[in-house]
Amino acid sequence: MSLEFIPPAKPIIGDAEREAVDRVLRSGMIAQGPEVAEFEREFAAHFVQGRETVAVNSGTSGQHLGLLAAGVGPGDEVIVPSFTFAATGNSVALTGATPVFVDIEPDYYSLDPQAVRAAITPNTKGIMPVHLYGHPFLVDQIEAIAHEHGLAIYEDAAQAHGASWGGRSVGTIGDFAMFSLYPTKNMTSGEGGMVSCANGDLARNVRLLRNQGMETQYENEVVGFNARMTDVHAAIGRVQLTRVNGWTEQRQRNASVITDGLAGVSGVTVPRVADGAVHVYHQYTIRVDADERERMRNALKDEYGVGSGVYYPIPNHRLPSLAHYASELHLPETERAASEVLSLPVHPSLTEKDLGRIVDAVTAVAGAGA
Ligand SMILES: *Cc1c(COP(=O)(O)O)cnc(C)c1O
Repeated sequence: MSLEFIPPAKPIIGDAEREAVDRVLRSGMIAQGPEVAEFEREFAAHFVQGRETVAVNSGTSGQHLGLLAAGVGPGDEVIVPSFTFAATGNSVALTGATPVFVDIEPDYYSLDPQAVRAAITPNTKGIMPVHLYGHPFLVDQIEAIAHEHGLAIYEDAAQAHGASWGGRSVGTIGDFAMFSLYPTKNMTSGEGGMVSCANGDLARNVRLLRNQGMETQYENEVVGFNARMTDVHAAIGRVQLTRVNGWTEQRQRNASVITDGLAGVSGVTVPRVADGAVHVYHQYTIRVDADERERMRNALKDEYGVGSGVYYPIPNHRLPSLAHYASELHLPETERAASEVLSLPVHPSLTEKDLGRIVDAVTAVAGAGA
């Protein structure tokens, strides 16, 4: 028996993307130019109600430049989750500021509001919560704490294109928000990032830092980077933007089929959605017994041809790269999540048959351990 493998993620690139790339290549103008400018405008109108938006060469660059533009630097502390991709804490560390790792709550993997409150010091400059897996963080509570203490919010929206909280779009909440356009994210430009900015000053600063500190050529105002997006990448992103709503709806339908299928399967906790939240299912993440996870992953792959992923197995405060910011730290919900989460395929290319196979495989594999 050979079952076709169902991969955990699958970027969708079609003829329209290929034609867009070809159009830019034929124009002979391939570095940052009119395609990037159009992509910024279209992305802003699509996701963040026209907030000023700056395209960069990766989500990580966007996060780093956003923090620098917001004035974060040595001596500052920024509160971040430890249960996230390392780029979140890295971008803070790269500014010279200190990432302060705080625990999550177990239902939505959001920064835990109580833990945020407890981590605030006179040096705290801002909070960088993550809309993990495509579910918004606990916006009302985190925002209330930020207001009370005069702190900025910097959103890590890398995984959350189109998500919302109480009708407010992700990317319109913080001083800035970073979206990633890496191939496995909900839409892609090949590599790339978008920074949605709350005001024109911040956007101008990000633009300067993106381009060697220049607004006018060769009149460098500040020390900056080359973090520009190319027109080739922007052309791909513009096509993806016309397709992403349909993909998101497909992800949501896939998630609801899997959730219905796994209802009542013991040993499996399906993802929750907070009241008023729109989840865009970058990942569909279940929880299983920590001692069972590796066996289940292997059985899903070897016996049923179902790929899965663990995002993320090592909390950031335990990574060799970042652990020195957090010696002695114990974050129980973070560590429990890192040992229990298991992400199943939810991407828009799944067929009804694939969804059935995923549900049947997880049901069988969970039952086999009981
Ligand atoms: C992907 C990702 C990033 C970084 O984005 P890149 O485009 O890969 O640089 C940052 N934070 C989170 C949570 C991500 O998933």
